[in-house]
Amino acid sequence: MTTAYIGLGSNLNDPIRQLRAALAALEQLPESDLKQVSGAYSSAAVGPGRQPDYLNAVVQIDTRLPAQRLLGLLQDIERNQGRVRTIRWGARSLDLDILLYGEERIDTPDLTVPHPALGERNFVLYPLADICGTNFVLPDGTDLGTLISRCPRNELLNTGLQLQPSS
Ligand code: ATP
Ligand code: CA
Ligand code: CA
Repeated sequence: MTTAYIGLGSNLNDPIRQLRAALAALEQLPESDLKQVSGAYSSAAVGPGRQPDYLNAVVQIDTRLPAQRLLGLLQDIERNQGRVRTIRWGARSLDLDILLYGEERIDTPDLTVPHPALGERNFVLYPLADICGTNFVLPDGTDLGTLISRCPRNELLNTGLQLQPSS
């Protein structure tokens, strides 16, 4: 089993509904267990033009899927939720990124892990810390607390919205 972390983002078509639907789909991934879900954070969009705010979250899954296969299945979920690929970093109904895949470093044309922007994005680092704590160490040896201390929270807001029905 490999422990992987996936970043979720949406800024179109009812983001809270998008993230909840994505979680339901992630629960159905083959050979995988959804282990932890962060809070839902809102953040201002970065990217071209004016865009609605994003809703972001991070989840932990334990999986036997190879990373490439996981990426393919995540892209299927994005497509099922109506994502249309237009301009890079444009608004989207659902974005699923593989942030970490165990301790592995992957550098192929369609997959880079750890996700190259992980260390600079507050909307990734803060929810990741929710579920793994600030002592969590990344494959390059830096801990999450150090990255967070260099990455201001700015307008990032924990919405307090529940993504999963409480059990
Ligand atoms: P960013 O990667 O900066 O967050 P983005 O999520 O908007 O940008 P997309 O348009 O969703 O980018 O994806 C572009 C391509 O990135 C995908 O087709 C995929 O092959 C590739 N990619 C590379 N590394 C990863 C990764 N770790 N997780 C998801 N996709 C990745
Ligand atoms: Ca992304
Ligand atoms: Ca993406």
